[in-house]
Amino acid sequence: MKIDKNFEDFDALGNEHIGTSQNTPMRSDAFRLTNDEKIDIIKDDVRHIMETLGLDLSDDSLQGTPNRVAKMFVNEIFGGLNPDKKPSASTFDNKYKYGEMLVEKNITVYSTCEHHLLPIVGKAHIAYISNGTVVGLSKMNRIVDYYAKRPQVQERLTIQIVKELQEVLGTKDVACVIDAKHLCVNSRGIRDIESSTVTSEFGGRFKDKATRREFLDYIKLDTKF
Ligand SMILES: [Zn+2]
Repeated sequence: MKIDKNFEDFDALGNEHIGTSQNTPMRSDAFRLTNDEKIDIIKDDVRHIMETLGLDLSDDSLQGTPNRVAKMFVNEIFGGLNPDKKPSASTFDNKYKYGEMLVEKNITVYSTCEHHLLPIVGKAHIAYISNGTVVGLSKMNRIVDYYAKRPQVQERLTIQIVKELQEVLGTKDVACVIDAKHLCVNSRGIRDIESSTVTSEFGGRFKDKATRREFLDYIKLDTKF
């Protein structure tokens, strides 16, 4: 009975999208297998799911699906679980002495809800104030993409992006806002197509009201090209 109760508790926790850790929960033997070995195992698992659902895997259209899904899991949508894929930490001196905040907005987020394995799609907005070090603009997109390519909870994704940039830039003055749609909410369950989820993390000087306001005002700018 105890096991059943725990299972129900965990099920409810996941359904309410409550995360339990700032770090992605990983097993200590997470990288014992090579990517090819993982693809081989997952391929069989996907085939098993499809066959259990009653699908005929000998059909031309379905034959390649298990292998395709396994490769997509390991190399693409969950590729950010592997620390080897972390974007390199190249930084530059702030030679032009730009002392104001830099905002990179509307970074596309494609992630996956770790409770339902359904897509999270949205936008991330990042800001930092340099204390002597700067990063290339695309670096911020790459960091978002790296942490998004994991089974995720949006709160954790937001925090992981900020912590990574704080480390790379050597400053606490980093902020991130993510506005995203969770397909597990939009397409099933409550099926609310309009709702989206906003999360934010404000480090260092971004905890200050005026600085935070400035960042949020820049996000609202509707720049046309
Ligand atoms: Zn979900």
